[in-house]
Amino acid sequence: MTLKGKVCIITGSASGIGKAIAERYIADGAKVVIADLRLDAAQATAAELTAKGPGEAIGVEMNVTDEAAVNAGVQAVIDHWGQIDVLVSNAGIQIVHKLEEFPYDDWKKLLSIHLDGAFLTSKACLPHMYKAGSGSIIFMGSVHSKEASPLKSAYVTAKHGLLGLNKVIAKEGAEHGVRSNVICPGFVKTPLVEKQIPEQAKTLGISEEDVVNKIMLGGTVDKEFTTVEDVAEVAHMFAAFPTNALTGQSLVVSHGWFME
Ligand code: NAD
Repeated sequence: MTLKGKVCIITGSASGIGKAIAERYIADGAKVVIADLRLDAAQATAAELTAKGPGEAIGVEMNVTDEAAVNAGVQAVIDHWGQIDVLVSNAGIQIVHKLEEFPYDDWKKLLSIHLDGAFLTSKACLPHMYKAGSGSIIFMGSVHSKEASPLKSAYVTAKHGLLGLNKVIAKEGAEHGVRSNVICPGFVKTPLVEKQIPEQAKTLGISEEDVVNKIMLGGTVDKEFTTVEDVAEVAHMFAAFPTNALTGQSLVVSHGWFME
C-alpha cells in the first residue's frame, strides 16, 4: 500500500494535523498539495516538506468556503499534475460557547468551514477521480462525530454531519472506484486545541489543568493526547487502501476515548 506518485490534496495543511498528514504522504513518495487560506503559509510548508522528500509538495491558496477559490485551486492542481488521487478534507476551526450565548454568525462560520468545505472540495475533485476510475476521499471528523461535549454545539453538529456526507459519497463513488472514509481523532495538541484550554477554563470556571486532565483526557484509557503522527498514520491507511472493501467507514483514534 503505497502513495508513491499519487496526487493528494490536503486542505488546512499549512499547520497541525493536515501538515503531519502531508509529511507522512511525502515520506511515501506522494505529490502533495498544501491547500490553505494563506498562500505564503502554504508555500512555506510545501517548501519545508519537499526538502525532506522523497515526494514533493506545492502550495495553493484555498478558502474552502469559497466555491470559486476551491474550483480554481483544484484546476491549478490538474494543470500542474494532471490528476487527483486523494482528497483529505481537513480544514477546520473550533468555536466554543454555551448554546444560548452562541453568536449566530459564529455558528454559520463554523458549519461553513467544516461542511461547505467538505462539500465543495469533494464536488470539485470527484469528477477527476471518476474520470480516472479511482480515488480516495478522507474527511477529518472527530470523536465529536460520535460523542457530544458542552459548549461545542456547532462543532459537534458539523462533525456528525460529515458522517452522513461520507456515506453518501461512498455509495455514489463505488461504481467509479472512489472510496470515502472519516478519521475521528481524540484531542491532539495543535493550535486549535491550545486555544481551547484557556477559553474552556474561563467559560467553565475551572483551572486549565482540569480542562486538560478531566475534560480533554478524562475519557481516555491512559490520559494521553493523540498525536498528529497517529492521525497521519490512519490517513495514510485510508488513502493507500487498495479496494472498495474499506469505504463508508469512520475510525476513532483517541486513546480509547469513546469506544464503539
Ligand atoms: P489547526 O488550527 O492547527 O489547523 C487548521 C488549518 O486549517 C490551519 O492551517 C488553517 O489555516 C486552516 N483553515 C482554517 N480555515 C480554513 C478555510 N476556510 N480554508 C482553508 N483552510 C482553512 O487545527 P488542527 O487541530 O490541525 O485541525 C485540523 C482538523 O482536525 C480540523 O478539521 C479539526 O476539527 C480536526 N480535529 C482536530 C482535533 C484536535 O484535537 N486538534 C481533534 C479532532 C479533529
